[in-house]
Amino acid sequence: MAVLDDIEVDYDLEYLTNKDAAWFTCAVVLEDQNHLRVKFEGFAHSFHDEVFSVTDFSTHRDIEQLIHKFRPVSKPVEDNECSRLTEGMLVCAIYRRHDEVLYYDAIVDAVLYVEHTPEKCVCSYLLCWQHGPGEGTLTKASIEDICFIVDGDIHPKIAEFANLVKQQLKVPSVESQASSSVNVIMMRFY
Ligand SMILES: [Zn+2]
Repeated sequence: MAVLDDIEVDYDLEYLTNKDAAWFTCAVVLEDQNHLRVKFEGFAHSFHDEVFSVTDFSTHRDIEQLIHKFRPVSKPVEDNECSRLTEGMLVCAIYRRHDEVLYYDAIVDAVLYVEHTPEKCVCSYLLCWQHGPGEGTLTKASIEDICFIVDGDIHPKIAEFANLVKQQLKVPSVESQASSSVNVIMMRFY
């Protein structure tokens, strides 16, 4: 077992993977000041990790795109919070297909409120999927499948990795001898 399989990490983020284009709960680890390791909850072995190197990024846009694939873990909607789910709201929810149970973003298209006790919500919701296999289609869902998307600052480890990438992008080259405005023009030409 690799050392990394034993380290204590906080699974406090979710990450939009390239493979399934679904959201997975993950932890991030910054290694050697030049690698960002993404560990997926439930997949402790490092074999499953996704690892990015500082040198994988050639433009600021590339690294900005990676930053936007992370966000705080979405929060399951409690039974007594159902009235907070309103039409037009963007949520993260379970999409079931065959044996797959994956999380994608959806917009609440319609709400069917039903009188109920605070302990058990029996309302139903029509979700319009924003990406993934159900993109553009509507599915009926109950509260246990729906999570609130949580706003938050960029995770400190991701911010640190992004800064390392940006420093690497600034490494002096021949062009950097010229003034910055000339640099912009040169970049546009090549
Ligand atoms: Zn309800």
